[in-house]
Amino acid sequence: MASAGKTPYRPPPFSAKPPQPRPMPPEGLFPNPGPSRVPFAQEDLARVFDVKTIQRGRTLVMAGAVRLGAAATRVEATVSDLGRELTVTVTPLDRGRRVAFERSCGCGRSACAHMAAAAMAALDARPEWRRTSLLDLMDQPVNAAVKSPSPPVGEGLGRGDCGSESRKGIFLPPFRA
Ligand SMILES: [Zn+2]
Repeated sequence: MASAGKTPYRPPPFSAKPPQPRPMPPEGLFPNPGPSRVPFAQEDLARVFDVKTIQRGRTLVMAGAVRLGAAATRVEATVSDLGRELTVTVTPLDRGRRVAFERSCGCGRSACAHMAAAAMAALDARPEWRRTSLLDLMDQPVNAAVKSPSPPVGEGLGRGDCGSESRKGIFLPPFRA
């Protein structure tokens, strides 16, 4: 710090301490712990995207049109739709009790099926994105209880392709003793 001699202002005393090397693991050794990753649930998507958009998004996921990127704190994906490759970014934001989504898509719309598809693909493929919701909690015991004797819950809806897996938990099967 000898070069600071010209400066009339003396730095505060604490700066005289040598900088402490922070005990950080080398970058890349561990994946980003993702303190800012905000998990979300299907029901959060349902607040942002209407049913048709979610259905179309689900169709894109099923068709394998979504390629997820490696980002840890936001959902990045490439969605191919009608011969176009769209770059999608969806960042869940913690808004207290609900989750909002900062989002963008190459198609230019503000709430499109590509975004819904990217978010749902992340929920499918990356458990770390899943927010535990009441519906999820209900889902597990229900699925375990009705393993084989009855058809999967929700199938009776005809085009029950509503997309929302967690929604299956709502339709409790008739109780059997
Ligand atoms: Zn789009």
